Amino acid sequence: REELYILIKSQYMGWQYLVDGADRLALDRTDPEWHRTEQQRTEWLKGSQLCLFLSLSKSRRSDIPRAVGAAKAAGQRGSPWRRMDTSSRGMLLHKLADLMERDRLLLATLETLDTGKPFLQSFFIDLDGSVKTLRYYAGWADKIHGKSMAVDESFMCLTKHEPVGVCGAIIPWNFPLLMFIWKMAPALSCGNTVVIKPAEQTPLTALHVGSLIKEAGFPPGVVNIVPGFGPTAGAAIASHMDINKVAFTGSTEVGQLIKEASAKSNLKRVTLELGGKNPCIVFADCDLQLAVAETQKGALYNQGQCCTAASRVFVDESIYEEFVRRSIENVKKIVIGDPLDPQTSHGPQIDQQHFDKIMDLIKSGKEEGARLEYGGAALGEKGFFIQPTIFSGVKDHMRIAKEEIFGPVQCIFSFKSPQEAIERANSSQYGLVSAVFTTSMDRALSVSAALETGTVWINCYNALHAQTPFGGYKMSGNGRELGEYALAEYSEVKAVTIKLSETL
Ligand code: NAD
Repeated sequence: REELYILIKSQYMGWQYLVDGADRLALDRTDPEWHRTEQQRTEWLKGSQLCLFLSLSKSRRSDIPRAVGAAKAAGQRGSPWRRMDTSSRGMLLHKLADLMERDRLLLATLETLDTGKPFLQSFFIDLDGSVKTLRYYAGWADKIHGKSMAVDESFMCLTKHEPVGVCGAIIPWNFPLLMFIWKMAPALSCGNTVVIKPAEQTPLTALHVGSLIKEAGFPPGVVNIVPGFGPTAGAAIASHMDINKVAFTGSTEVGQLIKEASAKSNLKRVTLELGGKNPCIVFADCDLQLAVAETQKGALYNQGQCCTAASRVFVDESIYEEFVRRSIENVKKIVIGDPLDPQTSHGPQIDQQHFDKIMDLIKSGKEEGARLEYGGAALGEKGFFIQPTIFSGVKDHMRIAKEEIFGPVQCIFSFKSPQEAIERANSSQYGLVSAVFTTSMDRALSVSAALETGTVWINCYNALHAQTPFGGYKMSGNGRELGEYALAEYSEVKAVTIKLSETL
């Protein structure tokens, strides 16, 4: 296998990976663009004092057994990792969090270069979320314990929580660092070892965190990072006989493939965090300013590339016109531009394929009769920028009402009664998150009880915390990430029953 040293890519600045020959990645120096961008590259490197040459190579199917072998050996009984005092395990996770805070600027820059997300979002939201999650699970490492059960006095029964073993993690491109940490931190806290595959579009932060894991002093083999493509490296993780659990975030189609691969191999545990077509219900008695701001942020955050995107906003017909008017006013404040510029609040989509998919859905919205209130077009000659877009008058049968757009498109519907809103909100194959906007706590609680989603936000949106479980009903997934609930996904429970020969 050939190792290549390649410069950080930036789709936005026009640099790119190209597949050179069969399976190696290289920069295309014959492209006239390269000479223009080299100047920019030098200035940028000088300015930021970052020298970012990373060793990147594409993991093949055959690399996965090597990584799994290393993870299995590192997690065996008697290994330094298994013998380690659980408080020391927690301290290692804290040390990693310290190093990530030290390298926050570098990590946020890498994340923005890789994904196109605005720098301040990488710097605050993604880095804060990652560091807090690591520290939260660092705290759990020495507090994981079983129970003892009362049976009759001739038996003593107790449970022990043991590591599951080697855990696979398959990461998406929309929150590469955060999703990496959401999966790795609880796995390590419970004493497992991991094999992690970042998305092929966005491997950079995972690779840098790999170097920090070494620096923190984790024993070799505890964390293995295998950048590679889905059908090769990802599929090999899903079907490996020595991987006992796999955690996946991404599309529903690939989630189904992973469950199938688990069923056909060793019935490994699978947790899936998949798509959503998330409803918000805005009642007439809401704080309108707040509802407009939160639902729009929910729809457009990260250029709409969120599984939690607020993609169906149902508004009481009595405030509908005003809600749409204020949403249009609000969207004009968004600053589109260079994602590295701190002023920017809206960057490009991840890649050409995804850009095309979103533009096709916007076209279908116009053709099917939704009213395009704002945006709807691509921006600029380069990069994959799409204007923040608002459709009103959206009807449930339209493609934009049913399919996950995963792009910067807000769809606004109207409703007449709470019963109707709930029924329409639930009429989706997905059930990830929902939100309710009202000043009546009675109404908020009764509506939240009726909504078929793993999370209900009341008068807020995208309010995610390391302490609170996250996951979906229906085709949005299986299992829960975050919070104490995630620990169960990464632990085997062993019941030990002792027969007492003597009762005094
Ligand atoms: P994807 O599901 O194909 O990719 C997600 C991850 O799965 C990547 O690491 C990829 O390499 C891996 N993968 C792909 N095929 C695989 C296979 N056969 N076996 C094992 N792993 C495999 O997602 P995508 O193609 O990058 O995006 C497509 C759509 O998925 C998006 O438009 C969006 O709707 C959805 N998506 C959802 C999320 C989310 O957070 N739920 C994240 C990314 C994408």
